[in-house]
Amino acid sequence: MEVLDVYQFINRMEASGVDFSEYHVHHTYAPDHDDFNGTNGLILNQNMRRYHMEERNFQDIAQHGTALPDGNIVTGRSFGTDPASISGQNDNNPLMIETLGNFDMGHDQLEGKQRATLIILGQWFEQRGKYIRFHNENAAKSCPGTGVDKDQFMADVRGEKVKGTKTGGGKVLLRNGDSGSHVKKMQRRLQQAGFKLPKHGADGDFGDETEETVRSFQEKYDLKVDGVVGPETNGKLKEEAGRDKTSVDQIYKVQIGAFEDKGNSEELAKELEAKGFDTYIVKEGK
Ligand SMILES: [Zn+2]
Repeated sequence: MEVLDVYQFINRMEASGVDFSEYHVHHTYAPDHDDFNGTNGLILNQNMRRYHMEERNFQDIAQHGTALPDGNIVTGRSFGTDPASISGQNDNNPLMIETLGNFDMGHDQLEGKQRATLIILGQWFEQRGKYIRFHNENAAKSCPGTGVDKDQFMADVRGEKVKGTKTGGGKVLLRNGDSGSHVKKMQRRLQQAGFKLPKHGADGDFGDETEETVRSFQEKYDLKVDGVVGPETNGKLKEEAGRDKTSVDQIYKVQIGAFEDKGNSEELAKELEAKGFDTYIVKEGK
């Protein structure tokens, strides 16, 4: 058993080579937040293992990881070993996470770093099209707690806001190997912040060039240099990309290309945008 941060935990998951099928979310109920003193995560987890093995006759602790109130995760059963998670849902290597706390209404709150850890793990599964399952979907139990709303949880995972409710903040986690519109948007922001992507531009693929550039960006702004776009790097990127560059007296525009065919103009615009330029197409004539 070890105490890891969520990114180290994800690295272990990836290094294991296990093809995780789903992400199962539980709460421990007991121990709860009152039992955690900031340093006893490992001890509490060892106690859970003992209880699971001696009282419940499990081969090991039930879960692969226990998410602590400080956002760290204690490792448990090895990845690729079926957990004792949800009856009928334990095959095909689901990842089972116990969240330390009692999140039934009126008890502990699932918030801050602990919530962020669950959401970041959720994003890892969501980005891979894997289902996120709460225990209470398949059992007459409240687990992971009546105070944890699945719709809100999924909105946080997807970076959406649910109207009228508090979000845990749209956390983003992008890394080498990812692709899609989120990556493209992030690459555009890098370019707008003055970091060029000379070889591939904003192509929507998070490859080595993008990773190197993310590292340069993180170095410049005193962020943790890991080449991964998490909440902090993303926040700084938004800030730097959004700086008002037009608060000057004169601006000089460059006009380029005039086409009879609209498709050709759009193609050129796309190429220029990939290089980090803001472009717009002006139609003249009738
Ligand atoms: Zn449960």
